[in-house]
Amino acid sequence: MQRMPEEIVSRVLRLLGYRGYRWELNEEALTLTIWVRQVGWDPSYTCSGCGIGVRAIHSVRERRVRDLPWGSWTVWLIVEVHRVYCRRCGVRVERIDFLEGKHPYTRRFAARVASDCEDAAVRRVAARWGLSPQTVRRIDKRTLQAWSRQRKRRPLRWMGVDELFWRKGKCLTVVSDLEAGEPIWVGEERKRETLDRFFAESLSPRRRRAVRAVCVDMWEPFLQSIRKQLPRAAIVFDKFHVMKHVNDAVDETRRQEFFRQKGPLRAVMRGKRWLLLTRWQNLTRRKRSALTEALSLNRRLFKAYYLKEQIDRLWSYTYEGAARRFFEAWLKSLRWQRLPAFKKLAKTLTTHLDGILAYCHHKVPFGVVEAINGNLRAIIRRGRGYTDPEYLILKTQKSTAQLRLVRAA
Ligand SMILES: [Zn+2]
Repeated sequence: MQRMPEEIVSRVLRLLGYRGYRWELNEEALTLTIWVRQVGWDPSYTCSGCGIGVRAIHSVRERRVRDLPWGSWTVWLIVEVHRVYCRRCGVRVERIDFLEGKHPYTRRFAARVASDCEDAAVRRVAARWGLSPQTVRRIDKRTLQAWSRQRKRRPLRWMGVDELFWRKGKCLTVVSDLEAGEPIWVGEERKRETLDRFFAESLSPRRRRAVRAVCVDMWEPFLQSIRKQLPRAAIVFDKFHVMKHVNDAVDETRRQEFFRQKGPLRAVMRGKRWLLLTRWQNLTRRKRSALTEALSLNRRLFKAYYLKEQIDRLWSYTYEGAARRFFEAWLKSLRWQRLPAFKKLAKTLTTHLDGILAYCHHKVPFGVVEAINGNLRAIIRRGRGYTDPEYLILKTQKSTAQLRLVRAA
């Protein structure tokens, strides 16, 4: 099988300073194997320990690595790898630029597999290249790590802490950089220890000083950890979580009123849950009149809806005093209304008021928290079962960075 001229083989290979000196085609398996060595009669090798050029050879070995395909042929290279005498490091294996350390594939092969992973699930990429999913995941993760290392590290000023629920009731704690709009850490469960672990692993005491505000749920274990580790940062409660408590109060009122009513009145209230929980400004005219009809028949439900719509104004203030006065007026209008769910809500809001009003001073972007959560969810869904949190984070950061590029273009 020596009909191909050597020059052509070497030119197609395009490995600087190397040439193919022997090849073999296996028609059945569709594999092409090429033996590769350095060009020239007095070659120099690079010490993998210190990077200097070395000439003294200790021994030679052949390594078989997978390379990019030639048409429908799978290509394997058999590379001459030397152990050399380095005057600084002693006997060392030489470093070859187109190889990925000791891995059984070339650097450009790994790069192609990793780039396929950007828009296809690991399983699909594995099938396409005839690799195991573990190998593909390893290649992808290593490429992402290299990408992450060369990024400029920015100070963490606005930190977000959120939880992510997914299959089988599993729960992850997600820490993100709200300025960069990307997650920086995930850990299993949502305990105080979980967040403590983040600080220990990923945020040195020196970097902690940069954190100005933390956007977080009204979740006591998290708050304990943050107060301990970031005593100077402001705690701002995530509006979406606060509004969830408000919506729960509306929903509970609806349920109670539903069971209090009889016959035709019940029928009008049926299926109005979604309407009640949607903001008035987001309803169409027809939806508004359906809601008005239901509310006109039940004074308590009307009041509950009105209170919910009102409380949203709490986040429109810049002066804390004004916000506080507004909240007190809101509390007052709740009196004598016989809305037990709102009584409970008022208590929750009052005890957490400082963290809610902190928004007057720290306008953290609430939408970003939700967006990051959504990105993570999409990636988990596509990849299925990320058991390696570091890989999940890297993957999300990369896709966020790419989205940013697309939007900027
Ligand atoms: Zn050396």
